Formats: sequence, C-alpha cells, structure tokens
Amino acid sequence: MAGSTKHPLFGFLPRNVTAKQVQGVVEGNENPFTRLPHSPQYRKILEARKKLPVFAQMDEFYKMFTKHQIIVMVGETGSGKTTQIPQFVVYSDMPQTKNKIVACTQPRRVAAMSVAKRVADEMDVQLGRQVGYSIRFEDMTEPGTTFLKYMTDGMLLREAMNDPDLQRYSTIILDEAHERTLATDILMGLLKALVKRRKDLKIIIMSATLDALKFQKYFTIDDPAPLFKVPGRTHPVEIFYTQEPEPDYVEAAIRTVLMIHRAEEPGDILLFLTGEEEIEDACRKIKIEADDLIAQDPDTVGPLSCIPLYSSLPPQQQQRIFDPAPSPRVPGGPPGRKVVISTNIAETSLTIDGIVYVVDPGFSKQKIYNPRIRVESLLVSPISKASAQQRAGRAGRTRPGKCFRLYTEKDFMKELEEQTHPEILRSNLANTVLELVKAGIKDLVRFDYVDAPAPETLMRALELLNYLAALDDDGNLTSMGSMMSEFPLDPQMSKMLIVSPEFHCSQEILAIVAMLSVPNVWLRPNNQRKEADAAKQLLTVPDGDHLTLLNVFNEYQNNLHDRNWSWNNYLSARSLSQADNVRSQLLRIMERLEIGVVTKSYEDQTRHYMNIRKALVCGFFMQVAHKEGEKGSYITIKDNQAVSLHPSCGLDTQPEWVLFNEFVLTTRAYIRTVTDIRAEWLLELTANYYDLGSFPDGEAKLALQRVLKKQIGKNAKAAGPDRDKPLKKKPKTS
Ligand code: ADP
Ligand code: MG
Repeated sequence: MAGSTKHPLFGFLPRNVTAKQVQGVVEGNENPFTRLPHSPQYRKILEARKKLPVFAQMDEFYKMFTKHQIIVMVGETGSGKTTQIPQFVVYSDMPQTKNKIVACTQPRRVAAMSVAKRVADEMDVQLGRQVGYSIRFEDMTEPGTTFLKYMTDGMLLREAMNDPDLQRYSTIILDEAHERTLATDILMGLLKALVKRRKDLKIIIMSATLDALKFQKYFTIDDPAPLFKVPGRTHPVEIFYTQEPEPDYVEAAIRTVLMIHRAEEPGDILLFLTGEEEIEDACRKIKIEADDLIAQDPDTVGPLSCIPLYSSLPPQQQQRIFDPAPSPRVPGGPPGRKVVISTNIAETSLTIDGIVYVVDPGFSKQKIYNPRIRVESLLVSPISKASAQQRAGRAGRTRPGKCFRLYTEKDFMKELEEQTHPEILRSNLANTVLELVKAGIKDLVRFDYVDAPAPETLMRALELLNYLAALDDDGNLTSMGSMMSEFPLDPQMSKMLIVSPEFHCSQEILAIVAMLSVPNVWLRPNNQRKEADAAKQLLTVPDGDHLTLLNVFNEYQNNLHDRNWSWNNYLSARSLSQADNVRSQLLRIMERLEIGVVTKSYEDQTRHYMNIRKALVCGFFMQVAHKEGEKGSYITIKDNQAVSLHPSCGLDTQPEWVLFNEFVLTTRAYIRTVTDIRAEWLLELTANYYDLGSFPDGEAKLALQRVLKKQIGKNAKAAGPDRDKPLKKKPKTS
C-alpha cells in the first residue's frame, strides 16, 4: 500500500481490499459503521453466513471485481448472492466515505423489503439508516446515511430518467436478471451505454439459472464480461410426474400435500400456486383436511402449519415463512411439518430453508400483451421448463428432496417452452417509452435491447403518448409529457391528475388514482359473501365505480382511518391505509410541480361528479366501450372487442358509453372498474382520438355521428342561421 493513505475507517484501501482484511473486520469487536460493539445476534447470523457457498469465494470475488468493470454472476438460489455480494461490494467500494450508494435491484417489492431487513440485521445496523430499501411509494432510506440500498428495478429506472449517469451510485447490482423483467431489461441497455461514460461505475449482473452466456455476450465491451460462478451445494431431487393430466390443479395440489404429509419422511413442503386468492383458499382447505387426518389417526399424523406467501402480504406475515415447523403435539408424538404455499416469489427471490418436498402444478400468473387490441392482462399460464427446473431445485437445498409435478412427463417435454419469454415482449410499453424518452433516448427502435420488443408494441406506446399529448408528432417530449413522467403512474393516470384542476376536482382525482394504485379494497370472505355485498351496496355510487372508490376513500377519512370501521364495512384496512399513503406522496409531487390542488364544493353533487367523470375521460379516453345489441354486451372502441361488465361493477343501469380501468380475461372478457360517461365529452375533450374522419365504421361511429349532428344543430340554432363553423375540435389540454 505504498504511497497511499490508509482509510480512516478500516485501515485499508477501497477497491484493493482482500478477503482476509474483510474477514478481519467482520470478525472484529466493533461495528465499523456504527462504532458500537457487535451484538450477539450479529455473531449468531455471522456463523450461518460463513457457511454460505459465496462466503468461501470472497477472495476470488475481490480479484475479479477489482479487475473488471462488469461481472456476470451465477449461482444456485440460496448460495448467498443477494444477501452477501452487496456487502462484499460495500467493503471494497466504501460508498459511505464518498457519499455514494451501492444499489442492488430486485424485480419484486417483497424481495427488496425482506432482503434489506435481513441484511440490516446481518450488518448490525438499523433498517432505513445505513441499509435501506426503496420501492414505489415507499422510501426507507436516509439521505446521506444510507450506503446500501435494495430497490425494485422499476425505481432505479425512474432514477435513471432524471439522472441518466446515475451519479449517486458507485456499484449497481442487477439481481435476478434471469427473470427478464421489463425494467431490468431496459436497465441493462442503459447501463451498457453508461459504463462507457462512467469508468468508475461497476456493474454486477446476477442470475440464478444458466443463461449467463447471453448476458456475458451482451455485455461485451472489448471482451465478453467475465463469469463469476458460485458452485451449488445442492442435493439430488427425485422428480415424479402424474400419469394423466390433472383436470383441477388446485384440488390435485391439495391432495398431493396431504399425501406427502401422511406418507413421507419429515421435511417441509413448498407448493406453488398462482395468486393470493387461490393461496388463501388452499391454506384453508389444507388446514381443514389435515385436522381430519389427525383426528382419524393421531398416532401417526403430526401437526401441519400452512403459511401463505405472496407479494401483497404485509412484511411481518412474510417473515413467517422462516418460522420452524410445528412441534409434535405430545413429546415423542409424530413430528410436525410446515407447508409454504407461494406464488413465483419462492422460485428464486426468497429462499426458504428446510424445504424437502416441492409440489409444482406447472402454472403461474403471467402478463400477456396484445398490441393489436392494446390489452395487457394477467393470465394463469403454463410455466417454462427453466421455471420447472428452478422450482424442483428448491427441494434439494438441505438434503435430497422430491418434486411432484402435477403434469405428465410428455407435457413437460412437449408442451412447456424452454424459457419464460422476457417481459418486454409481453408488455404494454407506454410507461417505458415515456421513461426512455425522458432519459434522453431518442431512437427507440435502435436502442440496444437484450431482446427487442415488437415494432407494433413500440408503435402503440408512441401512439398513446401522442394522444395524451406527452409526445409531439415528431416523438419529442412535450412539457405535458415531462410533467407526466414525474409521477410513478401509468401515463393515463398522471394525465388525469395534471388536468384535474381544470375540472375543479384534483382532491377527488388524487383519491381515485390512489385507490386504483393499491390492491383491491373489497373483502368478500367465502362464508359472508351476502353481508359483504350488502355493505358494498351501501357505499356504491350508481354513476360509476371510480366514484364509489372516491366515496369509500372519503368515508375512510371521515371515520379517521378506524380499522373497525373498515372491518365492519368489509374493506381492507391495509389497502386503505396504503391508498392514504400513496395519496400523500402524489400530492407532494403535484405540489412540487405546482399543479393546483383544488376542489370546489357544489350545491349540486351531480355537477361535481360530472366534472370528475370528465377528468377521467381526459386520461382514459382510449378505454371506452359502447353498448351494442341487447343483454348488456359492450364493444370496446376502435378495437372492437366484445366485453361484459364485470360482476363487481356497481352501475345500476347499462349506460350507452362506459369508461373502464381494466380489461379482465377469464373464461369471458370483462371490463372492471367502470364509469358511465357521455359521448359529448369524448367529442369535446378528446377530439383528436375521436376524429370521426378516421374512426372505424360501426355502431359506435354512427352513435357518435348522431351526437355530433345534434350538437351542430344546437350550436347553429344558438348562433343564428349564418353559422357553420365546426365545433371546437382541439383537445382542451394539450
Ligand atoms: P441467493 O440470492 O443466492 O438465492 P440469499 O442471499 O437470498 O441467496 O440467501 C442466502 C441464505 O440466507 C438463505 O438460504 C437463507 O438461509 C438465509 N436468509 C436469507 N434471508 C433470510 C431471512 N429473512 N431470514 C432468515 N434467513 C435468511
Ligand atoms: Mg437471490
């Protein structure tokens, strides 16, 4: 270390650090970040950390990290990548000494939160101070103090929009890159360009499966990026298939879990299902049936605990996956078992130790986008072979395991895709395009994508942004677009917020947008459906579901956020409190952008509601359906999809024109969260889109033409016989 000054904190130089030095620090008596003695919990966790495969390779890691600007890293799930590597980097980068941050991105909010908590414990610091996390609508970091930040990839992408050089960061780790989320894919493109401008910035791409070669090649600067491989420490997993396809995978899954519990050696079970409702339902059923089994045969069947895991579950409840299996009911009795029922989160993002059995029905919820009809939907779809292998791997972490695939071997070989399609190929890109344009990327077609999206999808995004007046006809960002990009929302929603003052209803639109940004607020427990529906009826505004959401939010405020009130009205207190939090954050953005936050009290509530509905039209004018034929069937505007009102819809009639928030595809196509609107507003407020000259022929066009004619007639009468000026056609807000 000749000629260099010793660092005051550790006595070694950043970036030339060796594993021995770091081990000296972590084993030391004093916490280098807080200067306090290490706690007993720290020592206990350290012993466990030292056993992780990654820990054994610290020296090798430092050698590669010092030498290269970009590293691609692969390793089995559970080997310690997510929790350890960012800490290794901290000891080398020393971000705390130069006001920089080490960022580690996660595709999922749950993972960002829970890993940050774990790492704060591992480093013996307080979560939200030295180690923090940042997810949409929740920033658990302390400026100036936080030097290790776990964040969703979406949040880092938003930051890149305003600071394309990402100056705050010394190292950026993109974790779970194999998941190929939209944000991670775009970040890879941005970082690839950025490393040329910022020679001091280091990048680590971490991935669980073996598609590392693709990333290595993609990150070829002079040579392909080097590969850092953490050898797995996995045990063999025996795979079982069903003889025949299972007609009902949930029922088959429950049956299999109970079969394992009754017949197999001790060891915990991990069952993959697709979403919250399915998971909660399965938990309930398994508990009931397990109790029956125990009652029949208390001497051989032990207690079974069922633990759900999905992303909208609050963090304390997510921690339950780490609880040990239940003890035998009586000393020496049959041992207990834990079954975790999880969405895809447990596939790679979160590691649960002690799993010996995996039950894999072969499905997950996946986003699908059809650019032709501009519909993005979440569909329960077959997983890929890579996913199936990953799932099976979860069983071999602690000892040899078994994986029960609830599909035939033939289906596995013939029907499943090799890899899950990258999200960029199956998403609506409106938001992404706006972010890229804001980040200064002009040529979206020639951007260096890992996998390029379909040109039609890009075109659709540009078209939407142009109609929303966020981009001009040449694709340049307008001042409206620049403002819109400040909101962490879909462009339709930010547009609505920005125009809301013109309709004297910003407070109301704020509340509606907040309510649309959180998980469903309506609770509908299986055994109290009638009561729940009756409670909902009392809060329903017949003009539209958006107004109903507003009403619920206002009542929640009037009742001072009382959890009992929520409970009594079958509303989720958790979602409501989240909505309240989202609202305050959006309010802050509006204030910063100096968008007037106004509301006007009307004697006449109908008029007030009308204004709110008009503001909704300014954002969602492309999500409109027209009633055609009898029996309440609707056809979506321009795309001509036949849809029905979702059963949850609270409209008391079937209006001719409706605006909807969501297209839901189950056995039928539904539109959900629907509001009654008028054709006049469409023609008046969004004349660009509703230009009848280019509107596709059909009943909707005829109806619009009739309305236009009537209006012209009325105007002509008012202005006298000479007037033949066309109606004002420019959108009000561009
Ligand atoms: P990888 O990213 O390689 O999949 P992780 O760094 O996420 O691995 O996890 C390594 C190990 O750390 C896990 O196998 C588990 O034993 C432990 N671990 C991680 N998070 C927690 C937690 N919240 N509570 C207890 N143990 C945890
Ligand atoms: Mg990980």
